[in-house]
Parts: sequence; C-alpha cells; structure tokens
Amino acid sequence: MQDAGLYIHIPFCKMKCYYCDFPSFSGKEDNMTSYAKALSKEIRIKCKEKNIKTIFIGGGTPTYLSLHGWRIIKEAIDEIKKEHIEFTIEGNPKTFTEEKLKLFKDMGVNRISVGLQAWQEEHLKSLGRIHTLEDFRNTFNLLRRYGFKNINVDIMFGIPSQTLTQWKETLEQVISLNPEHISAYSLIIEEGTHFYNLYQKNQLKLPEEDTERQMYEDTVNILKENGYTQYEISNFAKEGKECRHNLIYWSLDNYIGCGSAAHSYLNGIRYRNEENIEKYTCKIEDENNAIIEEHLNSKKENMEEFMFLGLRKTQGISTLEFKERFDVEIESVYGSIIEKYVKLGLLNSKNQRIYLTHRGIEVSNIVMSDFLL
Ligand code: SF4
Repeated sequence: MQDAGLYIHIPFCKMKCYYCDFPSFSGKEDNMTSYAKALSKEIRIKCKEKNIKTIFIGGGTPTYLSLHGWRIIKEAIDEIKKEHIEFTIEGNPKTFTEEKLKLFKDMGVNRISVGLQAWQEEHLKSLGRIHTLEDFRNTFNLLRRYGFKNINVDIMFGIPSQTLTQWKETLEQVISLNPEHISAYSLIIEEGTHFYNLYQKNQLKLPEEDTERQMYEDTVNILKENGYTQYEISNFAKEGKECRHNLIYWSLDNYIGCGSAAHSYLNGIRYRNEENIEKYTCKIEDENNAIIEEHLNSKKENMEEFMFLGLRKTQGISTLEFKERFDVEIESVYGSIIEKYVKLGLLNSKNQRIYLTHRGIEVSNIVMSDFLL
C-alpha cells in the first residue's frame, strides 16, 4: 500500500477575517450537513488502499463545523487505520466545545493547532478575529485539561499598527503558555481581501520594512532562547514536535486532499478540487469526484518543486535524494546557482545537504525563485 498524508478541508468560518484569502466562507451553515456527508464519501474513496501517515484537518475553521457534521465525518475517519500517526485539527478560540473535544479525542486527534495571531485586543479586533484574548486563554487551558500534549499556536507579525514591543509581547506571552509548536507568519496583503481594499485606499498603516525585518529576527532569537528550534522559515518546535504533516508538503511526498478546494499530490500528479461548497457537494454526490484540475508534473517541475519547497526547511535538501529521485547529479542542473549563492553566503552546502544560511532565510524568496528552471 502506498504511503500518503491526508489533508481534509473544512471551509466554514463564523466570520471572514479581514486579511484572509483562504477558501473559506461565512454564512454557509445550512450546507454543513450535506458537506460533511459528501466529504465522508470522498475520504472513503480516496483513502482506500492508502497507508495514511498523517492527517491534518484545516480550513476554514474546522471547529466551527456542527457537532452533527463531525459525527458524520468521524465515521469515515474511523475506518482509516491510524496507529502512531500525527493527527492534527485546526481551530479558533471560542469554537472549541467540550463535546467536540471529546469527539476529536475519540477520533484519534493528538495535535491541535489554534489560531491566535496577536496578544493585544486592539489587533484581534482590527484583524477581524471573532475571539478575544480571554477566549484564547480559556481554549488553551481547556485543551490541556482534555489532555492534548501537542499544541501549536499561530501568531502573526507585520500587522497594521503593530509595534515591535507588541510583537515581542505576543511572542513572550505565548511562550509562557509553553505550547509545543509555534507558527509565526508575516501578514501578506492578498488581493480580494478587506485589507487589500484598505491598502489600495492608503488606509492601512503597516509596519516599516525595517521594523518587520526586526520582528522576524526577534522571532527567531526569542524562540531559540526558549527552546523552540526553527525547522522551517515560519515554523518552530520543541524537540520532536515538528509538524510531520507539513514536512510531507515541503519534502514533495505524496498527500491526498479531501474537501472543497483541497489539493493533492500523488505520483507526480497535482490535483485540485472544486472550491465552491455547493458544487463540490453535488460533484461528489453525482460523480464521486470533485477534481477540476489535474496536472502531471514534468521532471523539470518536480525538480523545481523539490528545491523550492525543500529549501523552506532549515535542513534544506539532500543531494543524494535529488540524485535518487531524478537520476541526475544536482550539480549538473543547479551547479552554477548553488555556487553563486554559496559565494554570496546565502546558501550552505555541507554533508550532502544544501540549505539556506541565516542571511539566506531573510531573502529566501529571491534565492528560491532562482531555482525555477
Ligand atoms: S478563521 Fe482562518 S480561515 Fe477563517 S477567515 Fe479567519 S483566517 Fe480565514
């Protein structure tokens, strides 16, 4: 049986955050039950004869799905053999109920990812988050009470009007709760969001570039001092608590995506599901399939993705694995690019691995885009 990670998408949110361009929707509560039924059907079809190594339920706000919806999905998930797997569910403060937590435990969930973003109420409000800081604290304590020993907290820097001091406060306060994993992303203004409109009208006071660079620098240093190892550009973990599911993406390994807008990568083919909730549900009901795009990666595309994604990891890529996968020495494809960046001090090439240096991480987009052939 083939190994694969499983991603499950729950597209419902109570309210759309002002910065969010994820395929998630508010006001679609009436679709929850039919969506859960379709999703269960897709999970059963796609996971047949697969050895599922990790499960990640993301969204959207998975914890916003109704308990009834979860009961339907649980039946499909219960059919998957999942001994010793990492099983994550994402959620937002205020949407974790005790009943849902009990169900998640029964379902085998052993890792929780909570979206906080900022420690200051003013920022939570200005980002359009549905919760307060108190809600987050209560949720975190509830998760510990329910015995979850592997928790990630998502936080965000570079948000409007955020000061360096506030960012450090967010980092330090989150660290004081001792989660096992912290994801720290910088805010990106994406087209189609409320923030994008404000930005176009010059109504968004974003931190200066230098401040934002300092925020990232502080993130890396403060987390390191507190026992969190950086293993990817934006991800930090206590020893052994790196997210195994995300490592599948960054290592260009196989994964199956179920749910609206979910992507899969299987045997060199990328698939994309229908994004519209109603259309997704109908397609699964009528055709047992909601794929609307399929692309067989060329060898060149696979090499690019292997480099582009792999360099996100602080351990970078293995040159031996490159040879094994593509039957060609890495030097004959990327020799001059690697040499250029090693000379500039942005890449390291050591022990048959190639990885970004500290300075390389700061300009990672430039370095990584050079690996597109
Ligand atoms: S909760 Fe998450 S998915 Fe939902 S709108 Fe906010 S950022 Fe987007």
